Amino acid sequence: MARVALVTGGTRGIGAAISRALAEAGRTVVASYAGNDAAAEAFHKETGIAVMKFDAADYDACAAAVARIREQHGPIEILVNNAGITRDATMTKMTRESWDAVIDTNLGSCFNLAKLTFDDMRAAKFGRIVNIGSINGQAGQYGQVNYAAAKSGIHGFTKALAQEGARFGITVNAIAPGYVDTDMVRAVPADVLQKIVARIPMGRLGRADDIARGVLFLTADNADFVTGSTLSINGGQHMY
Ligand code: NDP
Repeated sequence: MARVALVTGGTRGIGAAISRALAEAGRTVVASYAGNDAAAEAFHKETGIAVMKFDAADYDACAAAVARIREQHGPIEILVNNAGITRDATMTKMTRESWDAVIDTNLGSCFNLAKLTFDDMRAAKFGRIVNIGSINGQAGQYGQVNYAAAKSGIHGFTKALAQEGARFGITVNAIAPGYVDTDMVRAVPADVLQKIVARIPMGRLGRADDIARGVLFLTADNADFVTGSTLSINGGQHMY
């Protein structure tokens, strides 16, 4: 039986590339999203991959979704915590709401879904969890205390959970992408982006597929000795 994979934020950008790659590798994939129905419908129509709308920051919504996936497809054995948002502002202008939204969506969602799938993975003696962090969680970034804190938190979360999962055959790893050409990065002003690209030794932005290949490696059945690691995929921009 094909292993069941949930990719949060799996209908657009990096998540969409991850969903496709896992489906092509023979996994049964459910791609979740938050509110962009048009993008999700277009993705489903094009790929045939199941899509499911729920707020990954909302624990009860996650619990209902995990139960629905178990019923429809079977227990989740591969979890890719990819959903993320930015609400950038310098400290002077950052609101408590944008702090909470970014922490809850980027980091809280990792807790919600790992918590809700961990017991099934333990019972199966198999699990693959990949959390999408960020170069900005490793190095910090001006105007992103909320995002950098959430992503940095993901890296600690990964190492702690990896220690708990190991004896049950569950690996937990993170990927720290550099700047990848998606809607999130297209929102960065062009002049700022130009300066960022100038600092990338490989001389280009990342592509969503660059990240998806990392997820394929970390979720492979035989990648069972890789756990607690952070794979930086950033064109050499930050060597950590
Ligand atoms: P996009 O903005 O292109 O896509 C984000 C996806 O996440 C969408 O599918 C969106 O759903 C979903 N999403 C957002 N909030 C929620 C939520 N509360 N519940 C469920 N789904 C949600 O982002 P990217 O593809 O660029 O980024 C993907 C991940 O990679 C993020 O975690 C991001 O922080 C990280 N990353 C991205 C980098 C980049 O350069 N792009 C660099 C480093 C890390 P909907 O379509 O409904 O809005």
